[in-house]
Amino acid sequence: MPAEIINGKELAKQIRENMKEEVSDLREQGLVPHLTVVLVGDDPASRSYVNGKKKASAETGITSEIIELPESTSEKDLLDTISELNGNPEVHGILVQLPLPKAISEQKVIEHINPEKDVDGFHPLNIGRMMTGKDTFLPCTPFGIVTMLKSKNIKIAGQHVVIIGRSNIVGKPVGQLLLNENATVTYCHSKTKDLKEITKLADILIVAVGKPNVIGPDFIKQGTAVVDVGVNRLENGSLTGDVDFEAVKEIASYITPVPKGVGPMTITMLLQNTIKAAKRLNNQ
Ligand code: NAP
Repeated sequence: MPAEIINGKELAKQIRENMKEEVSDLREQGLVPHLTVVLVGDDPASRSYVNGKKKASAETGITSEIIELPESTSEKDLLDTISELNGNPEVHGILVQLPLPKAISEQKVIEHINPEKDVDGFHPLNIGRMMTGKDTFLPCTPFGIVTMLKSKNIKIAGQHVVIIGRSNIVGKPVGQLLLNENATVTYCHSKTKDLKEITKLADILIVAVGKPNVIGPDFIKQGTAVVDVGVNRLENGSLTGDVDFEAVKEIASYITPVPKGVGPMTITMLLQNTIKAAKRLNNQ
């Protein structure tokens, strides 16, 4: 039997419907959740992500603004902009779109954001809170992945989760979140030996590599739940994931498509974090 598809777009829509009601209630109490996105430079992919975030915010009643700064912006000017946003009580969530121009240290910028407004969940304080299982802003893509698995009641506790990819924004934190959910977690990366032998042991396989169709059916045992995080643009302009969807869906128990998979969930979790920030900053 082919895998059940976990449609992230549909799930995101349902979650955003619930959020709309929550935001409407907050607005009635005079609290309007507000997200500020800072975009430095003119990278078309970054611009498109930022526009997606603005549109999704508006749909749920969250207000947002995009601060656009030129590619030539100095690190100091960007840090000053963040300081202003940190001090502005009307701003609840701050997101600096990555990547930044090479002259600016991403780490410095991330660490400059008030952790209470860090809706991306990238500040080291929030990462530490996540690692120790404390309430915090969870990084959006990993948070979205866990929400997708839970939406289908896919068993996590005691299961073997194999993750391909160890980036700070996807691979590492998703493993940590699933460990917190009592999974047994194995991380793989470009230096991993005998990758296939490891992935074939997975009950849940999460692929965050960034190379089209690197994972085919020969990497997967019957019944594995497969989450494809990769977003790759092909020469013909279409988007595809890291997993050979058509072949793998014949073996997997569950599979996420690209597009309409993890991507819409990432934005939804950003909105959820923004609402959480607004409430926390206003002692709710
Ligand atoms: P990244 O920082 O480039 O990390 C890629 C990881 O894949 C690295 O750990 C790398 O290993 C590993 N890798 C590369 N080639 C490999 C191979 N042949 N075999 C095994 N491992 C290999 O990427 P990222 O930021 O995590 O993003 C990964 C993908 O997810 C990208 O396509 C990105 O666009 C997508 N993404 C999607 C969303 C979403 O919302 N849908 C969000 C974020 C990212 P090393 O560490 O050894 O180099």
